[in-house]
Amino acid sequence: SGLEEVSELDGIGRPPRPAFKGGSLDVRQLGMAYGELDVLKGVDLAVKAGTVTCIIGPSGSGKSTLLRCLNRLVEPKSGDVLLDGESILAMKPERLRRRVGMVFQHFNLFPDHTAIENVMLSLTKIKGLPKAEAERIAKARLSDVGLASRQHHRPGGLSGGQQQRVAIARALAMEPEVILFDEVTSALDPELVKGVLDLMAELAKQGMTMVVVTHEMGFARRAADQVIFMDEGRVVEAGAPEAIFDNPKSPRLQRFLAEVL
Ligand code: ADP
Ligand code: MG
Repeated sequence: SGLEEVSELDGIGRPPRPAFKGGSLDVRQLGMAYGELDVLKGVDLAVKAGTVTCIIGPSGSGKSTLLRCLNRLVEPKSGDVLLDGESILAMKPERLRRRVGMVFQHFNLFPDHTAIENVMLSLTKIKGLPKAEAERIAKARLSDVGLASRQHHRPGGLSGGQQQRVAIARALAMEPEVILFDEVTSALDPELVKGVLDLMAELAKQGMTMVVVTHEMGFARRAADQVIFMDEGRVVEAGAPEAIFDNPKSPRLQRFLAEVL
């Protein structure tokens, strides 16, 4: 598989070669409301192809809603999002979701299906691939995330970390240009967090465009190309990890960091 080939190249000292063709995102004055409640109030954000953007901020600040707008699980009220220069509002949501994958805090795996069936389902149902082809791809992606030996287990027979890696394999199988991660380690036992973060760092190294809502400040500092701090539906501060964590400018970010670090 692509991921393994790249790892081997790294091992013999050649420069890492991107395995993914990541896409760019351009978020422009994005607004979103739940009924009367304005949740996003004009969010601007640029995500370069092949980079990692970490979004931090207090609970209720609109981080999940922003991610959900990016693949239209909810519809924005105003503004626009360009994926590789093309408005996502003009795309069919199904097609958009193939290009922009998402991984959730609670995995959202089908409990009555095995790991490999969970990965195959989107390939057969959404991409319409024949079963044999879907099985071949699903096997390869499960092997990429270190779960070749667990492919016939149901989610209930896997640890939380393994279930999350199945969910990541499922997202990868669709060959997305961008993957959105919404607090994917928040529901995991502490000892299982590192395996998932290491996998995400590996994907980042291989050129996947990633937008990551996270409470893991260590990961944001290590892996992010840019960090976005949101509060009350707005981007309050954005910058390189060093600027955000070592030299925060706004009092709100300073207060937030004092609480979480
Ligand atoms: P975060 O992910 O930063 O915690 P959310 O995007 O989940 O923030 O929520 C932002 C605001 O929108 C919060 O005030 C939350 O209560 C509200 N909200 C989130 N989802 C819904 C929903 N489905 N219906 C109504 N209000 C919602
Ligand atoms: Mg959230």
